[in-house]
Amino acid sequence: MNRMGSRGAGMDCDLVIVGAGMVGATLALACGQAGMRVVIVDSQAPATDFPDEYDLRVSAITLASREIFRNLGIWQDLVQRRVCPVREMYVWDARGSGAIHFDAAELGEAQLGYIIENRAIIHAAHTHIARLPVVSLMCPATLVAIEVREAGVTATLSDGTALTAQLVVGADGTESRVRKLAGIDSRSGSYDQIAIVATVRTSAPHGEVARQVFLASGPLAFLPLCDPNLSSIVWSCDSRYGKSLLDLEDGAFRQELQTSFGDRLGEIRAVSARAAFPLGFAHARHYVDARVALVGDAAHRVHPLAGQGVNLGLLDAATLAEVIGNAFRLGRDIGTSGVLRRFERWRKGDNLMMLAVTDIFKRAFGMDYWPIRAARNFGLTAADVLVPVKRLVMRRAVGLEGDLPPLAKRMLAGD
Ligand SMILES: Cc1cc2nc3c(=O)[nH]c(=O)nc-3n(C[C@H](O)[C@H](O)[C@H](O)COP(=O)(O)OP(=O)(O)OC[C@H]3O[C@@H](n4cnc5c(N)ncnc54)[C@H](O)[C@@H]3O)c2cc1C
Repeated sequence: MNRMGSRGAGMDCDLVIVGAGMVGATLALACGQAGMRVVIVDSQAPATDFPDEYDLRVSAITLASREIFRNLGIWQDLVQRRVCPVREMYVWDARGSGAIHFDAAELGEAQLGYIIENRAIIHAAHTHIARLPVVSLMCPATLVAIEVREAGVTATLSDGTALTAQLVVGADGTESRVRKLAGIDSRSGSYDQIAIVATVRTSAPHGEVARQVFLASGPLAFLPLCDPNLSSIVWSCDSRYGKSLLDLEDGAFRQELQTSFGDRLGEIRAVSARAAFPLGFAHARHYVDARVALVGDAAHRVHPLAGQGVNLGLLDAATLAEVIGNAFRLGRDIGTSGVLRRFERWRKGDNLMMLAVTDIFKRAFGMDYWPIRAARNFGLTAADVLVPVKRLVMRRAVGLEGDLPPLAKRMLAGD
């Protein structure tokens, strides 16, 4: 490890990022491009191969996240792999007539967002990181301890390596070790739901339209993939029912899926292997502490029904890079609470609002009490016809509205 450096003399780097998933890798790229010396560690080695089958983990990516990827130079790599634009979205309630339709054209945009495989995002970010001499990626390497001192922080890895820096960033997901080691409390709970994911082939093409139906057991989304007859499903359902779905033979699962989703995409012809993830919510009481900052799922966890989790995390990364980048350019210590609090103030309100909105949706659509059923059906239909309200909601959801960091703002013309 190179221990040279003008500021933070004797330190291994300016910042250590724990977690090289979508959020941590994006942050490392942004900070590295700004000239900061970064060490990024992850306990898992990233995927290096790209089989033809789709990754079961895909993300709906907003226009703001696309701008982050564009401004960091990785968008082109993603487009050259597999990126499916989402031009429209239908959402409806299976227990009523309430429905809402979103169309990118109503915003004067070509698309509402994109569906991208998680491993493609991680791979593209890692490829660009590898080209930056100021960024070192260490994996597999697991963080086990941090020691904060007035002048710096030491992050210790499971092999005994000790890294000194001005700042340690936890991008290490829901069970964040950084958050726990820093003693930052998190309000969290389980939704007693799991999300089943799979790739399905349908007889009718999806037409680059995302669809989501709210069933009694939870929301079921069909997200379009580049193949016009392939969709990635996210079926969030009560844990017990979910486990019974996982236990079904392929044919029986396909039948249950068809019955639940209906025939909007014709016949469901094939279903891939399935995977499942427990669902919950969480929000860290603070995003920052002495020489520590949290981004992405380490700071907040939202229900996937609105497809916002990683988009919030990417905005955290872009904002933190902006705030510490400004301090770095001025030759200041990037780990002081004055610098870090600016990041927390910038992001906390937006993240909390999205957490609240998804939580309300999850709970409102989980109830079968008839006045609530009637109210939500009315609400969906009313929102569909109240065009200015709908447009406002859409602009916020796709990342055209809000207090965006410079990296998330559109700088180039076109799509
Ligand atoms: C079924 C499902 C569907 C979803 N769909 C969407 C969607 O469509 N759109 C959207 O925006 N969001 C979606 N999300 C949410 C999104 O997946 C998460 O918000 C996102 O993955 C969080 O990224 P992250 O980089 O913060 O954390 P993670 O992806 O959890 O990455 C954390 C990394 O840290 C590493 N790590 C952990 N501990 C340590 C340690 N001690 N030392 C070193 N490394 C460590 C891990 O190996 C991992 O690589 C979905 C979530 C689920 C469950």
